[in-house]
Parts: sequence; structure tokens; C-alpha cells
Amino acid sequence: MSLLDAFGRPLKNLRLSVTDRCNLRCEYCMPEEDYVWLPREDVLHFEEISLLVDVFLSLGVDRIRVTGGEPLLRRDLPTLIRMIVDKPGVTDLAMTTNGILLADQADTLKAAGVQRVTVSLDTLRSDRFAAIARYNELARVQAGIAAATRVFGGLKIDTVMIRGVNDDELVDLIEYGRTVSAEVRFIEYMDVGGATRWAPERVLTRRTMIERLAAHYGGVEPVIAASSAPADRYRLPDGTVFGIISSTTEPFCRDCDRSRLTADGMWYLCLYATQGLDLRGALRRGASREELARIMTKAWTERTDRGAEVRLALGDRRAFVPLRSLRQDPHLEMHTRGG
Ligand code: SAM
Ligand code: SF4
Ligand code: SF4
Repeated sequence: MSLLDAFGRPLKNLRLSVTDRCNLRCEYCMPEEDYVWLPREDVLHFEEISLLVDVFLSLGVDRIRVTGGEPLLRRDLPTLIRMIVDKPGVTDLAMTTNGILLADQADTLKAAGVQRVTVSLDTLRSDRFAAIARYNELARVQAGIAAATRVFGGLKIDTVMIRGVNDDELVDLIEYGRTVSAEVRFIEYMDVGGATRWAPERVLTRRTMIERLAAHYGGVEPVIAASSAPADRYRLPDGTVFGIISSTTEPFCRDCDRSRLTADGMWYLCLYATQGLDLRGALRRGASREELARIMTKAWTERTDRGAEVRLALGDRRAFVPLRSLRQDPHLEMHTRGG
């Protein structure tokens, strides 16, 4: 039985961030010159993560997504995967990565128990890749995608669409996805913490994406599915399926069953939450599993978060968190929360 929050939403999905470090600087996530990092001594050890995962599983979580920062920068990650994957109750163990280090690690990750991977890729043009992510790593990301196709038999590709930056690549990315057995998902640019260059006019809306793809392909049909997954899926006339995550213009908070654990053990019940629950502190003070379960149960059952809906209702929107607040608390950053 899953725990229900104040709106009846179950606790099912856990996004597990294993590091806040990253080898890219995507302009919608980490556009600044420098960052305040989580102190290394605060980062959870694998045994601590494993214990917390046990408590999450006892409360009804069954799907885990490993993320970052860039998760493949975490040393010895396959060991952590092996510690988690066989726990009773884990039905899905996935990973989101920028793909740079995936070609080297795909076989080991699969052998350790990773079931599915999502690679983030915003452009197929190398000059543009460097402009968006600061480093030109397109070739290594594409090698990582090729490895995912070979090792996992396919993957998802997540693309943040920004008007005037990469919105002329909707069709190119779908065509590329076909060649690598990838389902492409277009994400609306979100005004999350860290997205200091966000502005409403830079958002390419779901509606516009569908209009443009329908005009090109001659039709787009919704795929009807009962799921709490954030992506709405669509089918092109030739059967190709793609997804759109419309967190900015049509949020889906009413079905939100996910929460986030940062690499230093702060638990966030919403991407937009400004306060988290300090599970590392409780753990390192010697709290038992039962005590942890009790404080987590209380937090989830009282949960009323619906951050993206609240942001939408504001009407006039600018970046969510000012830079000085991000400097004071890196937990407010998207790259610390894991996306
Ligand atoms: N580094 C890994 C990666 O890029 O896949 C994992 C962490 S990253 C924070 C997770 C996801 O968050 C990525 O797919 C990224 O595109 C997405 N993301 C980051 N900032 C975003 C923003 N402002 N709007 C929408 N998606 C964003
Ligand atoms: Fe880009 Fe992911 Fe790194 Fe953010 S965490 S800068 S989205 S690669
Ligand atoms: Fe869930 Fe918060 Fe995102 Fe809404 S904004 S879908 S409540 S994480």
C-alpha cells in the first residue's frame, strides 16, 4: 500500500541524485560562471543511500531513477546500482544522464542492473551544442547514445526546447531518434531554480510543438495511456511515437507521485519546494528506520505541493529563484535536485 498525500497522490517514484557535480553547463540549468557545491563530507555514502532507499520502499516507492548533476561522475556507481536493484519492491531502475561518459559505462551499468536509460540531448549541431552546454561534447554524447541502443536495445532522449535556440530541430531530432531506437521527448523550458535566463517568451509551448510537427508530418494523434508519467505521448502517421512534457504551460501536479532525494540527503516533495526534509541529519544522528519512516510518513501525508500549477497561476512570471538565493542555498538548484 502506498502512502497518500493530502491530495490523495501516492508516493511511488523516487529521483535519486547521486552527485551535484556536472561536466556540462547547459544554459537552462547551469548558466552561471561558478557554483556553490554541496560539501563533500555531506554527500551520502552508498550504505546511507541504501538504507534510505529501504525506508522509501517500505513506504510504497517502487520506481527509482538515478540522476544528478551528472550521475556518471559518481565514482563506482555500478556498486550502488547493485545494492539497490535487487531490493524487494523495486520494479523499475532507470537513469537520466547527459551521455558523455555512457559509451564507457553502458555495459557495466546494464550488468549492474540499470534497466532503462534516458539521455538528454538538445541539438544535433556541434556549434549549437557548445553554445547551449558550453563544451562541445556532441560526438561523445552520440557515442553514448549508440552504446545505449546496443546495450539496452533502445532509450529515451530528452530535449529541452527553447524558442530561438533549438526549436528548428523538432523534426531533425525525431528523425535522429528513429535511427537510434529512441523515443524523443520534448520538454518545455521550466522556470526552476537555476534557470536564471528563463523568460516566458523563450518557452516553446506544447501546442506550438504539436502544430509544427502536425504541419510537417501530416497529423499527430495522442496515444491514450493510464499513467502518472509526466510525458504525454503522440503518434505520427507512420507509427513513430514521441512525447511532450508540458510542465510549464499545462502542468500535471494532480498526478504527481514523485519526490527527490539530493546527493546530501535532503528530501524534496516538489521540484519547486523551497524547503526540504534533512534525512542525512536524522540518519547521522542515529535515527532508526522506524523513526525515519515516521518523519517521512508525516511529511508525505501532509504534502500539498503543486508548484508548477502555482507558478502558472501567477500569470506574470520571471525566473523563480534569484541568483543570490541560489548562492546561499545550492539545494534550490535544478542540478542539485536532479530534474
Ligand atoms: N545531467 C543529467 C542530464 O542532463 O540528463 C541528469 C540531471 S538533469 C538536471 C535532468 C534533466 O533536467 C535533464 O533532462 C535536463 O534537460 C532537465 N532540465 C534541467 N533544467 C531544465 C529546465 N530549466 N527546464 C526543463 N528541463 C530542465
Ligand atoms: Fe546539463 Fe544535466 Fe548538467 Fe544540468 S545537470 S547542466 S541538464 S548535463
Ligand atoms: Fe510534482 Fe511539484 Fe512538478 Fe507539480 S511541480 S509535477 S507537484 S514536482
